[in-house]
This record gives sequence, structure tokens and C-alpha cells, in this order.
Amino acid sequence: MIIVSITGPSMQDALAQMRQSRRYADMFELRLDVIHRPNIAALIAASPKPTIATCKPVREGGMFEGAERERIEMLEIASVFGATYVDVELDMSPRLLQEFIRRKHETKVIVSKHLPSAEPVNIPALYRRLSASGADVVKLAFIAADAADNRHAFDFLGLARRDRQKAVAVAMGDAGEASRILYRKFGGWATYAAPESGPSAAPGQIPARQLREVYRSHVVNRYTRVFGVVGGPVRHSKGVFIHNPLFRRFGMNGVYCRFPVADLPGFMKRMASLLSGFSVTIPHKEAIVRHLHRLDAAARAIGAVNTVLIRNGRLLGTNTDAPGALDAIESVCRVAGKRVLVLGAGGAARAIAYEAKRRGAKVSVANRTLSRARALCRDLGVVMVKLGRVTPGSFDIVANATPVGMAPNDGHTPIPKRLLKGKVVFDAVYNPPITRLLREARSANARIVPGAEMYINQAILQFKLYTGKTPSPGTMRKLLEVAE
Ligand code: NAP
Repeated sequence: MIIVSITGPSMQDALAQMRQSRRYADMFELRLDVIHRPNIAALIAASPKPTIATCKPVREGGMFEGAERERIEMLEIASVFGATYVDVELDMSPRLLQEFIRRKHETKVIVSKHLPSAEPVNIPALYRRLSASGADVVKLAFIAADAADNRHAFDFLGLARRDRQKAVAVAMGDAGEASRILYRKFGGWATYAAPESGPSAAPGQIPARQLREVYRSHVVNRYTRVFGVVGGPVRHSKGVFIHNPLFRRFGMNGVYCRFPVADLPGFMKRMASLLSGFSVTIPHKEAIVRHLHRLDAAARAIGAVNTVLIRNGRLLGTNTDAPGALDAIESVCRVAGKRVLVLGAGGAARAIAYEAKRRGAKVSVANRTLSRARALCRDLGVVMVKLGRVTPGSFDIVANATPVGMAPNDGHTPIPKRLLKGKVVFDAVYNPPITRLLREARSANARIVPGAEMYINQAILQFKLYTGKTPSPGTMRKLLEVAE
């Protein structure tokens, strides 16, 4: 069930939010603490869905600053005018709490606890206190600092499922996004979503439409296989707009979430066992290696993993960046026997250098920090060059594997235009789609390969590893366009 929080802030805004969100909502939460001078009777009468009346005081993360008596009165008015639920706090006066519980045959009761952070928290003790209140629904909300904190929400829901107790557990903030998407997998009663316009009621709330149309959280069940992207930051990752529609297209019971992770060991300890696989992005591509049971030969040689598969509890690491980039370059020109100049010595450069060499190219590497280039060349058996010494006659294909040229610094280019005439020029940067490097290459009669092609190829390979199905590049291009 998707509950859309109606936040106004004006009465007019609140009514508009209900109209806009009715297609995506199963219930509306009327945030009486956020809506300015709410006409409670009018809101309940206008609601096309059942309603929850909520009026959170500041101490519970809400906006209501008035007297407690006034707050209780608002909830009582909502009850009289037909709200289906009232949301009251575990820590309110026990006498008042029992008063609401006693009348729960008239208006059902959600008893909630709001914590400012995930630590320290004794989930079983908190669950026992909430369920002992006699509530129809128990609700826990806390601010997640890292994606591993979602585990608290899932543990809470697990306890409630055991007791057949209706429960909601929300990890707030970007790091808690998974708790809002996966609640049904762990037996949660509902999730709270943002309206289509206006402020959201809590940090990290996902718009209801996105929950339904992108994540399809309403059809997630205990058998749904969970995937995602692990990195920091992952806010702008396009993966959720690629993999989720693909699951739907191929009729697969899977969902793909964003996991912003600063503490990788913590995430691996608490969350990895819930997942079927995940993509790894900056800054964890190298650090992930020590958490895996096995690496394939390419990932071992490259020293970086961008895809983890979890099978029977074993974690297998691979690297789809390498074939992704080379398939993109080879859509324009075979690399066997050609001289490939790689710019950069980070994860992407290592992947490209490894795979180009494996496919028979003669690889040289130029990087700003010479020691890093030297290490790459030693590990992979390729040749180091200084960028200042590169001449037009010394390479056939150039691959930019530095972020130079990426927005917002898109006025920069990693190699002078005069070296590009007649070459094949690949840029791993895909934002903007056509970088200054590619623009200059095109005007120097070079053949160009944009970074989006690498992105598409590596995502196709990832999806195939996750599911055994291979989406077409055309499908991927369309999904990427929509994601932008
Ligand atoms: P990384 O591990 O951080 O490596 C970055 C490399 O770029 C380093 O060698 C660094 O040189 C160099 N560099 C950074 N800033 C520079 C500057 N201002 N001037 C010259 N050199 C500079 O990053 P990565 O994971 O390899 O990613 C590199 C680029 O590839 C990023 O833009 C990323 O978005 C892109 N990428 C694209 C795809 C795709 O699917 N299209 C996939 C993966 C990566 P130092 O050693 O001197 O620091």
C-alpha cells in the first residue's frame, strides 16, 4: 500500500496534491502539522482515498509547535470527521494514548516512534514497546546515515511479520531509500510517498508515481530478487531507470535500488545477504575486492570490480566496464594490431588497457601522476608515455579514461585537437553526451565513440549476468534517453 503524505502547505495545495496523486495512492496521510491552518473536515471530505491524520510535534521530527492539548484536539477532530487512522506517538501521555486505543473501533490507531538517527537502537525492545501499546499499526521511522541502516527497518518488519502485527518501518534520508521500496519483501504494511508537487513530508520520500512506475514497489514480494548500485554518491545513477524497466519488460521479479554507501564493510556485513547482485561504482570498485569470494580473471588482472553476483551466499566479482568500452570502440574499428593510447590510470583506464591488450592492441598509457601510470603499466604489461611526447604518428585510437571534460567542467579536453586528425576517439565521459574532446575530434575528421555507448554495453552485460537475458542496444538507448 502506498500512502501519499499530503503536505500543502496551503489548503489549496493540499487539495491539488490529492487530485494529482490519487492514481498512485492507496491512502492519504494528512500532515496537519505541515498544512497551514488545515480545514480538517474539508480535507477528509475531499479525499478520494482513506485518510490518516498525523500531527507530528517537533520532538518527533514534525513541524507542530503549539500546545499538546491543541495537537490532540486536531487528531480528535479528524477522528470525528471520519479519518480512517490517527497517528499518535508512543511517547505521548500514556493516558491519552490509551484513550485513542480505547476508541480504535471508531478510528484505527497507528502508534509511531521517530528517532533522529539509527544508532544506538535496540530494535527488538522498541518493537516490543510499540506492539504492547495495542495499536492497529506500529510505525518506526529513523534517519539512516548509510545504506546499511536499512537493515534496522527490515529487522523491525521481520519481528512484526512473525507476530502478524501490521507495521511500517522507514529509514529516512537518501540512504534509506531501499526501505521505502522493499517494504513488501519484508512484510511491511505500507510505505509513505511524496506527493507529485509540493514539499515531501520526510527526507528521502520518493514520489508516489516513481515508486509505482519505476520501482513497482506495489508488486514487490518476498520472492523479489534485489539488485542495486553501491557507491557514493549514487543519487544521479541512471541504473534504476535502466534495470527496473528491463525487469518489467522481461517479466522478471526483480528490483534495482540505490545504495549510498560510505562504510563498505558495514554494508557488506548487514545488507549483502539480502541482495542477489549489485553494481559497484566510485569510490568502491577497488575496495570491494576484499569482500568477495571469487574474482574472474579480468577483474583480478584489472584490480577493480563493477559487478557482483551473489549465488548461494557466494560473492563473485567481475568487470563489465572492460568489454563495455572495447565493444563500443570495436563498433567503429577493430583494435587487433592497432596502437591504443589510454589517457588516465584509474579504474576505467585499467579496464580499457587490459581489454584492449587482450584483444590484440598495442597499448600505451599517459597519466597526470606518473607513478600511477607506471604501476598500471607494470601490472598489465603495457607501455607508459608522457602526454607531452605524444605525436600524431604514435597512435591510432585514443581512449579518454579521465573525468576531464565532464560537466560542469565541460570546457576542458584531455588531449590537443591537433593530435586527433583521422583517429578513432573514444571518451568514457558521458555527461555531456558529446564532450569537447569528441566535438574537436569530429571536426578533425576523426571517428568518434561517445561514453554512453560504453555505459550501455556494460549495463547490458550486467543485466545479462543478473538475469540471463540480453536487452538490445536500441532498448537501452531509449531507456537512457528517458533517464536523462
Ligand atoms: P578514477 O579511478 O578516479 O581515475 C581518474 C583518472 O583520471 C586518474 O588517472 C586521474 O589522474 C585522472 N584525472 C583526474 N582528473 C584529472 C585532471 N584534471 N587532469 C588529468 N587527469 C585527471 O576514475 P575512473 O573510475 O577510472 O573513471 C574515469 C572516468 O571514466 C570518469 O569520468 C568516469 O565517469 C568515466 N567512466 C565512464 C564509464 C562509462 O560507462 N561510460 C564507466 C566507468 C567510468 P591521477 O592519477 O593523476 O589522479
